[in-house]
Amino acid sequence: MMASTTDVLVVGAGPTGLTMANLLAYHNINVRILDKRAGPTEETRALVMHARILELLDKLGLAEQAINEGQKLRAAELLARGKRFGKLSFQGEEERTPYPFALIYTQDQTEHLLQRNLEKTTVRVEWNTELLNLEQTSNGIRATVRQTNGSEEIIEAGWIVGADGAHSPVRHALSLGFEGESYKQALFLADLELEGDLNKDQLSIGFTKLGFLAFFPMHGERRFRVVSTLPLEFTNRETLTPDEIQQVINTYRGPYITIKRAHWISVYRIHHRMSKRFRVGNVFLVGDAAHIHSPAGGQGMNTGIGDAYNLAWKLALVIKGQAQTTLLDSYEDERMPFARAILNGSDKGFELMTMSQPLVQQLKVSGLPRLFRFVSSVPALRQRAFWLLSQLWTSYRSSSAVMQSAAPEKKRVQAGDRAPYGIYEIGPDTGKSIFSTLGGLDHHLLLFAGSDPGTASSNLQEIASKVCKLVSTYAAPIHVHIVEAGNRRLHQRYEANTPALFLVRPDGHIAYRGSAEDSARLEAYLDRIFNKEVPQPGIDSRRASSSQLASTGEGE
Ligand SMILES: Cc1cc2nc3c(=O)[nH]c(=O)nc-3n(C[C@H](O)[C@H](O)[C@H](O)COP(=O)(O)OP(=O)(O)OC[C@H]3O[C@@H](n4cnc5c(N)ncnc54)[C@H](O)[C@@H]3O)c2cc1C
Repeated sequence: MMASTTDVLVVGAGPTGLTMANLLAYHNINVRILDKRAGPTEETRALVMHARILELLDKLGLAEQAINEGQKLRAAELLARGKRFGKLSFQGEEERTPYPFALIYTQDQTEHLLQRNLEKTTVRVEWNTELLNLEQTSNGIRATVRQTNGSEEIIEAGWIVGADGAHSPVRHALSLGFEGESYKQALFLADLELEGDLNKDQLSIGFTKLGFLAFFPMHGERRFRVVSTLPLEFTNRETLTPDEIQQVINTYRGPYITIKRAHWISVYRIHHRMSKRFRVGNVFLVGDAAHIHSPAGGQGMNTGIGDAYNLAWKLALVIKGQAQTTLLDSYEDERMPFARAILNGSDKGFELMTMSQPLVQQLKVSGLPRLFRFVSSVPALRQRAFWLLSQLWTSYRSSSAVMQSAAPEKKRVQAGDRAPYGIYEIGPDTGKSIFSTLGGLDHHLLLFAGSDPGTASSNLQEIASKVCKLVSTYAAPIHVHIVEAGNRRLHQRYEANTPALFLVRPDGHIAYRGSAEDSARLEAYLDRIFNKEVPQPGIDSRRASSSQLASTGEGE
C-alpha cells in the first residue's frame, strides 16, 4: 500500500472543505483535499450567501465574481390572506457593510467558484477518494483512503480537518456524539420557472395555519426557489411532482402563479445537532460535520465557510511556527458558542413557522403580519434584523485569543468583534473602504490618531515607528497603518476618541484593542499569541513583507 505525508488533510470538498483548502493553499501550506464524490455538486441546495461571508470571500478576491454571477436580494415582503404586509428593506445598510444585501448564490455555484480558485494553486481536489479510517499518532494522524479503482493509500498528516458533512466519518472515528434531534416537519425545495406576480429582487413569504411558502428569486429571468412545509399527505415522499407543487402554491397564493418549468425538486428532512467537541487533538471538525440546523435564515453553508475562515489562518501560523499552538484552542472556544447561537436562532425561526398548536397557528396568521409590518417600519429594528441574518454580529469577545486593554464596558467596539466597516475621508485612500487596508490574510495593526480635540496624538509617527519595530520582532507578518484624525467617521465607528491600536486578524476580527501609548500591553498580547522566531527557518516566503508601515491619512 502506498504511503505519503502532508501537513493538513482536508476530508470533504463541499463548500466548507473547499474554503479550507483555498485558505491553506493561500498560506502556502502543504494540503491535500479529498472527496468520495466524483466532482462538485450539481444541485443548487443552499441558496443564500450573507454579507459577512461575502466580506470574508473578498479576502480571496472572490466576492465580486460571486456577485456578478448571483442575484441580489434587497428586501423581504410578507404575504398573508392574499395581502402584502410590509416590506423589510435592507436600505441604509451600505453604512455598515460593502454588501448591503443577501446574495442568492447557490451551493453548486459556490463549490464551482471555490474549485476554480483552487485550481490556480498547485492543490487539486482528489475526487473519487474515500476516507476509510483514521487514527491519531504521536505526531499527527494516519488516514487510510481508497480510490474508486480499489487502490488504497495511507496518508500521514500533521492535522486533519473533517469537512465531511452531517454523517462525518471523521466525527465517528473520534466517537463524538452528535446531540440534538430531528424535526417531525419536513420541507420541500423546488427550483422553478414561474409566471405571475412576483418581485425579482425580494423574498416573498406567506403563512397559513398549516405552514409557510417562500419564493426566493434566483439568477435567471423567471427562476425562483420555492420552499414550503411538506403537506401532511406527502409525509413519506422523497420528492413531489410539479403538479403537486402547483396545488400547494394555489392554496397560498391562488392560481395567479403558474409553474412553467421545474429544474430541481427535493424533500428536505431537518435536524438540529451539534458535535460535543469541534477539536480533539490534531483533528478538527468544520461545517455540517460539526453542526447542522434548520435552513431558516439560510445559515448552513455560511456557517461552514465561517468555520474555515476562523481555523485556517490559525492552523497556517502554527504550522509555519509563527504562532503558539495554544492559538488553536480558540477555534472551538470561538466557533462553538457561535454555532450554538445559530442553531438556537434558526430553530426558533423554524419552530415559529411550522408550529401546529391551534392557538399558535392563530397567532401566526394574525399576529405575525402585524409584527412584520412593525419591524419593517422601524429603522432600528429593520437594521437589527439584517444584522442578525447577515452574520455581521459575529463576535468572539470571550475568546482566550483576544485581549482588550481599555475598560471594555465603556466601548461598543471590543476585542473579538468584527472590525467595523467605513470609508476614508482624507488622505491617499479617500473614498476607499478600510476593508481595502485590511485585505488579504495577514494581521493588520491600525493606529488611530484619536478624535477628541486635544487628545489626537502629535507624535503619531513616533508611535508608529515604535510599534513597527515591536511587531517586526515577531515571526508572523503584521502590517501597520495610521488612520489620521481627519477620518472622523472611521474614528466614530471604531470609537477611537483617544489614540488607539486595533490589531485585526486575518478573519477580520479585532484581536487586540488598546491605548496607543500602552505598547507594553500590546507586547504582552503579542507574546501570548505569536512566536519571535520561526523554528524552521525559511519556511515562510511571505515573511519579507512583514511590518511594513502603510500610511492611510494625509501628512505622511
Ligand atoms: C437537499 C438539500 C438542500 C439544502 N438546502 C439548504 C438551504 O437552503 N440553506 C442552507 O443553509 N443549507 C441547505 N442545505 C445544507 C447545506 O447544503 C449544508 O449546510 C452545506 O452543504 C454544508 O457544507 P459542508 O461542506 O460542511 O458539508 P457537505 O456539503 O455535506 O460536504 C461534505 C463532503 O464530504 C464528503 N464526504 C463524506 N464522507 C466522506 C468520506 N468518507 N471520504 C471522503 N469524502 C467524504 C461528501 O461527499 C461531501 O462532498 C441543504 C442540504 C441539502 C442536502
